[in-house]
Amino acid sequence: MNHTINFKHGRQAEEFALLRHKNPALYAMVVASADFAWREFRQWTTITSIYRPGVDSVHAWWRGVDVRIYHPSRWPDDPVAKLRREDEEGWSEEAAYEIAEWLDRWIWYDDALPEDEGHEVIVVHGVGMERHAHLQLGPWSVDT
Ligand SMILES: [Zn+2]
Repeated sequence: MNHTINFKHGRQAEEFALLRHKNPALYAMVVASADFAWREFRQWTTITSIYRPGVDSVHAWWRGVDVRIYHPSRWPDDPVAKLRREDEEGWSEEAAYEIAEWLDRWIWYDDALPEDEGHEVIVVHGVGMERHAHLQLGPWSVDT
């Protein structure tokens, strides 16, 4: 397993192993993004959510992976608290946008549309500690 990827819980680790078969393109995109995040920014990737059956979202179809965005309130101004727990690492907001730009050079959400007309492969959303980068691919990426 890629050594620059952490998981919020064991469940996400199990799901990520399944993703390799359910959606190889998304799996490869996440691994490549994690490698890029480490190489360019020395930032770990923490996967917080993958499969959410029954929801009205790409997550119900193995087409979405959430990655934590670092938020300073996780580590209050206390030297002891600043000893980061590995599973709480995350991308910076700036890194997320650069990773998105890099991905746009070689993968698209919808392979039938020019890159500037389809959905984004990374959407950064959520507030505060909930902020995350949502990595996603279109229906072409899975067998249904
Ligand atoms: Zn998501």
